[in-house]
Amino acid sequence: MPAEIRVFRCLDDNIGALIHDPETGACAAIDAPEEKPIVAALAEAGWRLSDILVTHRHADHVQGIEALKARFGCRVVAPAKAAGEVPGMDETVRDGDTVRVGGLSAVVWDTPGHCRDHIAYWFAADGAVFAGDTLFTLGCGRVSESSYGEMWTSLSRLAALPDAARVYSGHDYTIANARFALAVDPDNAAVKARAAEAERAKAEGRFLIPSTIGTEKATNPFLRAGEPAVARSAGQEGRDPAAVFQALREWKNRF
Ligand SMILES: [Zn+2]
Repeated sequence: MPAEIRVFRCLDDNIGALIHDPETGACAAIDAPEEKPIVAALAEAGWRLSDILVTHRHADHVQGIEALKARFGCRVVAPAKAAGEVPGMDETVRDGDTVRVGGLSAVVWDTPGHCRDHIAYWFAADGAVFAGDTLFTLGCGRVSESSYGEMWTSLSRLAALPDAARVYSGHDYTIANARFALAVDPDNAAVKARAAEAERAKAEGRFLIPSTIGTEKATNPFLRAGEPAVARSAGQEGRDPAAVFQALREWKNRF
């Protein structure tokens, strides 16, 4: 049976996510931004938390762990590079490791860039990747601790997933990201349509998570750094995509 996934808001703009195995009843939270909405989402679905899979050590992704662990006795899996920096950590994982949630399984990918310890969880059989603060709908995370080149490599790895792969991000910055995408790629009809879709979703109290890799490759300026029109827009005509990516990310920081 396929995994069941729920997403919901936490804090101001974090996105909480639960993945549930209907066969075994196992259920993992991806990160733990805030206890209350996670407990509420579990209660609404009738699921019990067995695991927390941490994408990176930033406070807004781990601050709910201790309360959830006290309540559910769940296992906490976190990046080996964040050892000692994630509360309640039980197991550490690194690139290529497999994490099981009941009968579901995810491969761990190192995705440094937003921070040095960042990892993503790719549930291949379910076609879902939990990308944390690496890849957002129409955007990507800020780069700190790691180089722009490392972030570009991480994004390129995610972009190589199948087009149908669903992308679950750690934040909803879609409206701001859409404005930037339009500034970078003003003649791209797919970006215009996606920006309009984001505005509509917001008006209806929804958000565009998950996205898919195919949609992001067509609309996300950071995944389109190899497109001549995007390079031109970033003032990097003829440069390699990694350099275009850096110029775009620095532009977005000032945008
Ligand atoms: Zn973060």
